[in-house]
Amino acid sequence: MSQTAVIDHLAAAEPMLPHRALISAIKPEAYGISTFSLEYMDGVAPAGFAPGQFNMIHLPGVGEVAISICSDPDEPRVMGHTIRYAGSVTRAISRLKVGDIVGLRGPYGNPWPMQLAQGKDLMIVSGGIGLAPLRPVILQVLHHRDSFGRVIILYGGRTPQDLLYTDEFEHWQDGRIELFVSVDRADENWKGQVGVIPMAFYRIRLDHRNTLVYSCGPEIMMRFVIYEAMARRIPKDAIYVSMERNMKCAIGFCGHCQLGPTFICKQGPVFQYSAIEPFFGREEF
Ligand SMILES: Cc1cc2nc3c(=O)[nH]c(=O)nc-3n(C[C@H](O)[C@H](O)[C@H](O)COP(=O)(O)OP(=O)(O)OC[C@H]3O[C@@H](n4cnc5c(N)ncnc54)[C@H](O)[C@@H]3O)c2cc1C
Repeated sequence: MSQTAVIDHLAAAEPMLPHRALISAIKPEAYGISTFSLEYMDGVAPAGFAPGQFNMIHLPGVGEVAISICSDPDEPRVMGHTIRYAGSVTRAISRLKVGDIVGLRGPYGNPWPMQLAQGKDLMIVSGGIGLAPLRPVILQVLHHRDSFGRVIILYGGRTPQDLLYTDEFEHWQDGRIELFVSVDRADENWKGQVGVIPMAFYRIRLDHRNTLVYSCGPEIMMRFVIYEAMARRIPKDAIYVSMERNMKCAIGFCGHCQLGPTFICKQGPVFQYSAIEPFFGREEF
């Protein structure tokens, strides 16, 4: 059996076994947030991923964290992970450099339903780091622009300095994507909108029979996004949200990420809103 086959065999037998991955680039995005490009080593072939899926990044002796894949699904060899330094594991990741090695396993989770969006208008609504799992959607739209109708992004951040991927905004707009950016608190250089992002719904006329909404961000933001979308007669079935809970195994064993009768790692993180409505907003304990 070849070495690659042995690793594949082990991975199949040990679904929680991380593989070695090289940090090939680190791009600072905002204060306390950077994007880490990771490439599998030892001949491990990337499995490919779909927009909205996540990986588990493992630091031996420190722990493991769930991080969304934010890069282009058409280039699965190099996977981007935009990481906010929140606690013990992500702070340890913040001290790593290009050339360092981490453990990586994945991809996991239910992705955004890109097939369903074909031929439809797509509204992407995100806040803060919630744009990370939606960036692969945007990149897919740009690759296959004619397969979609109108594509609108509503993106909100606390301040202009907290916004991610700002260097790509022009390219997105050149690709016939309508982009509305708003911040909660402006500074003297900010020329854009000020206010929470669900308010941007008031600036757009939507075709409720033909629009899908994909949303990721703080749950309080998504609650208002759902409200504004439904107020415009977009059906619950056409609204998709990406949920976050404390995650441990990522393969449906441990139950840490349970949301009502579902596990976010298996049935999520992307859910049709109608499927989780009774449990939406329920705090984890
Ligand atoms: C499917 C999924 C995708 C994710 N994608 C990303 C991503 O792309 N980028 C990113 O930076 N983070 C992402 N996260 C969140 C990340 O996994 C957590 O923030 C992780 O706990 C950080 O680990 P830590 O050891 O650094 O911090 P911890 O020590 O675990 O926690 C630090 C603080 O954050 C709180 N916290 C932990 N997990 C969460 C959570 N899920 N939601 C809200 N608060 C939490 C803790 O209660 C604590 O107060 C994702 C989580 C999930 C479930």
